[in-house]
Amino acid sequence: MTATTAPVLILLGPPGAGKGTQARMLEESFGLVQLSTGDLLRAAVAAGTEAGKAAKTVMEAGDLVSDEIVINILGDRLKDADCAKGVILDGFPRTTVQAEALDVLLGESGQKINAAISLEVEDREMVTRISGRFTCGGCGEGYHDTFKPTAKDGTCDKCSSTDMKRRADDNAETVASRLEAYHAQTAPLIDYYQTQGALQQIDAMGEINAIAEGLNAIVTKAVA
Ligand code: AMP
Repeated sequence: MTATTAPVLILLGPPGAGKGTQARMLEESFGLVQLSTGDLLRAAVAAGTEAGKAAKTVMEAGDLVSDEIVINILGDRLKDADCAKGVILDGFPRTTVQAEALDVLLGESGQKINAAISLEVEDREMVTRISGRFTCGGCGEGYHDTFKPTAKDGTCDKCSSTDMKRRADDNAETVASRLEAYHAQTAPLIDYYQTQGALQQIDAMGEINAIAEGLNAIVTKAVA
């Protein structure tokens, strides 16, 4: 990253907490770049790169991809010029090793984390949330069968594409593994960022727009 004062925000939370949806809204409101390691990994899988080949089966099982692969993929992406606007990290870091590597990466360019925002949700919500979600293949907008349906069946509200995609790992069995990985490996980051004085927590059980309002207030303060 080139700018020294560009904001760095982290969204923490279990799979299905709404990190992607909220990151996209923040991206639009604050002119930041959403960086999802899940998206970067899915692109690597689709492109058939070495990293993608190594990640594929791990992702299908709902386990975490190796720190080395994920840190490299994110480190490369952070060097792109658009990241100088500031970034919202969605799904990274997910382990203490990744969090420490991020501190080093940011330190090299004189940057720091403005806020690590934990989206607090109960596990029992997750299966419902995850099993109903789908994404527009045209523009990436996220939808949900119950909570955020398209206005016209199967057609994206934003770009009118009819190419809707459901993720291979959004099924009940894989969700259980992903939740387990979250509690064992990612939840400890809440303490990590609390200790750094960067932690903010938000109740993410409610309605998408209400959560977005709360997040906007947190981010406005954090980037001021
Ligand atoms: P997500 O799109 O964030 O739900 O991520 C989908 C899958 O990609 C996860 O279940 C992991 O297998 C993998 N993944 C994404 N981000 C990371 C990360 N920071 N560390 C390890 N694995 C990751």
